[in-house]
Amino acid sequence: MTSIPADLPKTIGHWIGAELVESADGRTFANADPASNLVYCDVASGGAADVALAVTAARAAFEIGPWPRMSPRERGRVLHRIADAIEAREDRLATWESFDTGLPITQARGQARRAAENFRYFADLVNALHEDAFRTAAQIGYVVRKPIGVAGLITPWNTPFMLESWKLAPALAAGCAVVLKPAEFTPLSASLWPEIAEEAGLPAGVLNIVHGIGEEAGAALVEHPDVPLISFTGETTTGQTIMRSAATGLKGLSMELGGKSPCVVFADADLDAAVDGALFGVFSLNGERCTAGSRVIVEASIYEEFLARYAARAARIRVGPPQDPDTEIGALVHPEHHERVLGYVASGIAEGARLVAGGARPDALPDGNYLAATVFADVTPAMRIWREEIFGPVVAIAPFADETEAIRLANDTRYGLASYVWTSNLKRGHRVAQAIEASMVWLNSHNVRDLRTPFGGVKASGLGQEGGAHSIDFYTDSQIVSVAL
Ligand code: NAD
Repeated sequence: MTSIPADLPKTIGHWIGAELVESADGRTFANADPASNLVYCDVASGGAADVALAVTAARAAFEIGPWPRMSPRERGRVLHRIADAIEAREDRLATWESFDTGLPITQARGQARRAAENFRYFADLVNALHEDAFRTAAQIGYVVRKPIGVAGLITPWNTPFMLESWKLAPALAAGCAVVLKPAEFTPLSASLWPEIAEEAGLPAGVLNIVHGIGEEAGAALVEHPDVPLISFTGETTTGQTIMRSAATGLKGLSMELGGKSPCVVFADADLDAAVDGALFGVFSLNGERCTAGSRVIVEASIYEEFLARYAARAARIRVGPPQDPDTEIGALVHPEHHERVLGYVASGIAEGARLVAGGARPDALPDGNYLAATVFADVTPAMRIWREEIFGPVVAIAPFADETEAIRLANDTRYGLASYVWTSNLKRGHRVAQAIEASMVWLNSHNVRDLRTPFGGVKASGLGQEGGAHSIDFYTDSQIVSVAL
């Protein structure tokens, strides 16, 4: 049974110039929860006209409003108040996020805390930033860091509120005004931003939100001539479409895209920790995680023992209603996505991989987008379940003979986002970590992120890096003023 939060909105509007509004043409789309797939609210479906209004409001806030002219300390105070307002809504946010995305409630709680932390972190960071000066005998040049203007932010449906905060916090901290286009599968938690912004005293027009379908509202935002930069998180193919469209306006782009990250386990690893880490890496957040360690590569001498332990643990992972505190895997976000993930399970079986756990909807859950934790062994690099991002609770496991083969298999992917290495031989750990073509490597650790570190991907996983000062660099232009002495 799905429990329906009592305080859900019946409609969700755009937030433009500090007003909640319907779409200019009155269109809406229906939003359902993934545990029942029953529609619970109508959401304004934006198009070019709504994006134009939002950009006009953002431009006015940027050009004549106080926000970019406030000191970093003053803006930081507002950002800290946003963090306070998020924390004050932690219960509602977690309940809504879990209801709308299908994430287990225990994991949705962590998202609210991380979102608040993003605002605190960037508030403090901009206050501590300095601007460089360069001096010769003849001249001194000093750097002025300027917010770029109206930033277009386009976000996906996995951990939606947290990922929105990951872009909003640095863009606002830098002094930009923003237009956010949240993912259409999960608009609910974004409907909290207006009251959070008002409570924190964010000036009108600095934050604007246009809901809608990617190919309409998202595309209009990318094409708008007064939006000089786009920060996008989503699928690699969508990123390619956006890059093509942004080329006309030579826009600044930050692309956080898909992944198919390897988790390499050597025979000398602490096996308990490696099994734990490899399970968490792909089955937390329903497996709907860009950094999922979805290809586990295990040294041949421990392969069968690892598999037996891993499969037994995977079979015990509790799949259930997102709001149940005992649930470890909830419902996948949308029936279309559920079908897609089931298609990958079928393709793994058809291509000859050995199914050692899961593979189907649990019997006790006849409705909703559920899938048991699914483990395929003996997966080869030719198979689709090895090559393509599944973005669900499905893992591909394969053996390797030696370090050279481990590195070759780890890098046998078009993606390069995250990776995980487990070994007690530290020299080898560093060697393998540095040989892997991925922007982020966790050595003897599962995925723990420090907000100060760079975050991004290489190969088909992205372009540019966010995180720490990288994010502020993206949302600002550095102007050099050179003065003769
Ligand atoms: P998606 O690409 O389908 O959609 C992402 C956003 O882009 C949505 O808001 C969507 O409406 C919008 N969009 C779609 N088409 C568009 C277009 N033509 N123009 C402009 N906007 C458009 O991705 P998704 O299914 O929402 O999210 C899952 C993907 O996101 C996975 O590939 C995952 O790996 C990736 N992801 C990456 C990171 C990262 O940091 N690298 C983090 C989370 C998710």
